[in-house]
Amino acid sequence: MSIISSTIGYPYIGGNREWKKALEAFWAGKLEEDVFLADIEKLRLERLQKQQDAGIDFIPVGDFTLYDRMLDTAVMFGMVPERFGWQGGEVSLRTYFSIARGNDDAVASEMTKWFNTNYHYIVPEYRQRKLTLTENKPLTAYLEAKEKLGIDGKPVLIGPYTFLKQSKGFEKKDIPGFILQLIPLYSRILNELSEAGATWIQLEEPILSTSLTKEDLQTVKEIYKQLTEAAPNIKIMLQTYFDSLESYEEVIALPVAGIGLDFAQGAEKNLAHLQTHGFPADKVLAVGLIDGRNIWRADLQNKAALLGTLTQLVPANRIWVQPSSSLQHVPVTVQSEVKLVATIKASLAFADEKLAEVTTLVKGVREGNQAIADAVVASVTARQKLAELPARNHPDLLQAVQSIREQDSTRNAPFKERRDKQQETFNLPLLPTTTIGSFPQTPEVRRARTKWRKGESTDAQYREFVRNEIKQWVDIQEDIGLDVFVHGEFERNDMVEYFGEKLGGFVFTEKAWVVSYGSRCVKPPIIYGDVTFIDPMTVDESVYAQSLTDKPMKGMLTGPVTILNWSFVRDDISRKDVTYQIALALRKEIEALEASGIHIIQVDEPALREGLPLKKSEWDEYLEWAINAFRLSTASVQDTTQIHTHMCYCEFNDFIDSISRLDADVISIETSRSHGDLVSAFNDFSYDKGIGLGVYDIHSPRVPEVQEMVDIIEQGLGVLEPSQFWINPDCGLKTRKYEETIASLKNMVVATNKMRERYAVLQK
Ligand code: GLN
Ligand code: ZN
Repeated sequence: MSIISSTIGYPYIGGNREWKKALEAFWAGKLEEDVFLADIEKLRLERLQKQQDAGIDFIPVGDFTLYDRMLDTAVMFGMVPERFGWQGGEVSLRTYFSIARGNDDAVASEMTKWFNTNYHYIVPEYRQRKLTLTENKPLTAYLEAKEKLGIDGKPVLIGPYTFLKQSKGFEKKDIPGFILQLIPLYSRILNELSEAGATWIQLEEPILSTSLTKEDLQTVKEIYKQLTEAAPNIKIMLQTYFDSLESYEEVIALPVAGIGLDFAQGAEKNLAHLQTHGFPADKVLAVGLIDGRNIWRADLQNKAALLGTLTQLVPANRIWVQPSSSLQHVPVTVQSEVKLVATIKASLAFADEKLAEVTTLVKGVREGNQAIADAVVASVTARQKLAELPARNHPDLLQAVQSIREQDSTRNAPFKERRDKQQETFNLPLLPTTTIGSFPQTPEVRRARTKWRKGESTDAQYREFVRNEIKQWVDIQEDIGLDVFVHGEFERNDMVEYFGEKLGGFVFTEKAWVVSYGSRCVKPPIIYGDVTFIDPMTVDESVYAQSLTDKPMKGMLTGPVTILNWSFVRDDISRKDVTYQIALALRKEIEALEASGIHIIQVDEPALREGLPLKKSEWDEYLEWAINAFRLSTASVQDTTQIHTHMCYCEFNDFIDSISRLDADVISIETSRSHGDLVSAFNDFSYDKGIGLGVYDIHSPRVPEVQEMVDIIEQGLGVLEPSQFWINPDCGLKTRKYEETIASLKNMVVATNKMRERYAVLQK
């Protein structure tokens, strides 16, 4: 067999989010189960057909899901948490969705990020009860493709070690037992597949792209040894993605038939590994050549050259050409975008366009590069045209980023001096109360925005509407008795999109959705050019809000790293440089706010931690520039201007030091669901700046009792000084309803006053 083309996975949402719509209709009871399943089957088969029509030789089956593939795998192994009352046997759709979404009696399983993507998976819960095979899902998928479409597909499954490592509910000592149960189930799946005619299975082990210990590698070795012994008749493609391997030699020595490597994100290092250590003569190399994580058209000249180098090292008949990861992380097709500027549109490649890139590169090897010359030239020209756009060529900006000096990211005075000056300015009470920024985005707010966007209301009318909301909530905050106010963010749909629409260098798509979690899809902005400040973005609302009250009004911005991490980012300059450009633009905004009389400014960085590289050895480099970018955006203000930041829940233990380095005067962090971790973190690291540990969970409509919040504040004060402690909810309140928000905040203020009284007595 000669070189072949393959994919690791393909989007399942459909070009018009048909998947999402079907799911939500089913959940809402608007679609009968059989109709729903029929709709879904149609979607599932269409995407296989599409890949076949595109000329992909080896098409994955089993990469489709009704919610999440980790959940599919857990359910397949009977890992249904007790609380869902499953009695064995087949797991019903109802139970399946309950694990993902919760029901009246049981809370959903936890959700967390899938490696360094913005996709969130359902974390399997291991309970040491016997695992069983409830269904051979890859087999079902394999047979379906074969019988209905005549496609002899490549069954895919999350590999055992990644599955284990991304599950929870066990300690280190339970790992051997877990593995002992997993191996027979995996081998049964594999054996049944090979009996049904499957020749290969793709076992995905992205965990191998992270930093692994010797012990971890030993476990991986043992797993694959046992698995290949128990299922000798099927070939395993051990598929890694999202980065290069750190332990290349150990991984290629595993007793599997093929190794899939990332030659996009991990190109340099994986190529170096291959050149230094070679590649085993008995294995297939799956080359992840086309970037599965970004949306840019590939430079096919470069890619063909890299493939040429690889075919010198490994014979072409042992090479598969693929995207570097599943294409589920990119939107379906550029063809749906009708409003994009032609130059930009021509330089994009979503899932379907990437299929064509893969098949083109394969053709180049089969028929010679002459056969793909036109496609190569077209790709180079498209990128060239993009590079020449004025939006990518702001010489002054290039200059500005290059000439950033250390003092540009350093505030004038050290924290303690600033703190004293700020206290003099604001004269805030002990345990100041505030909120994180947004107030309820009621249906009226959304309607008003939609109307305005459709041109059904004028700018002036919309502005007036927003002002009324602001006024209403300033009055409410007065009434509740909060100390530092916010304007409520009524003018914002999304915390990144809002800024992207006002800064230079961004474009927005119409249908470029990707799944974030469950049926929730996001449409990330595209940073295609230099990011530039055009006009003030938040000054109007903040200044208006401040004019209504004597209490300090917090200006509210999204930070540079979060804007970066929640966008698709140009690939011709480093992420660091893009972030610095955003930081310089935000710096201007912050200066404009300050000049207009806003003296407390919050710069949200909920995605700072998400951007951490997979390998611990690369963390420092990322943190260095990410933290610096935040500081660059905030450092030019006067000592008396108080900079706040906010982060949603993050593991603190390895991160407090970084948080401290942001040098924000005050940080608010989501913590109400993780108090234990937190106390231990602050025991180990003495944090000296202002800090608000969220005192109630904003994800639930429940109004928290005063006493609950008193307890939480007490716990925080066990490890932090009252003089540095702020009181706030966990996160923004935009998803909450009007009444519950007011009731919760009132209780929060009562709880705060109780604590203040206690301290007042102590001080007498
Ligand atoms: N200021 C934003 C809000 O209140 C913060 C949201 C977030 O942290 N994700 O909505
Ligand atoms: Zn938050």
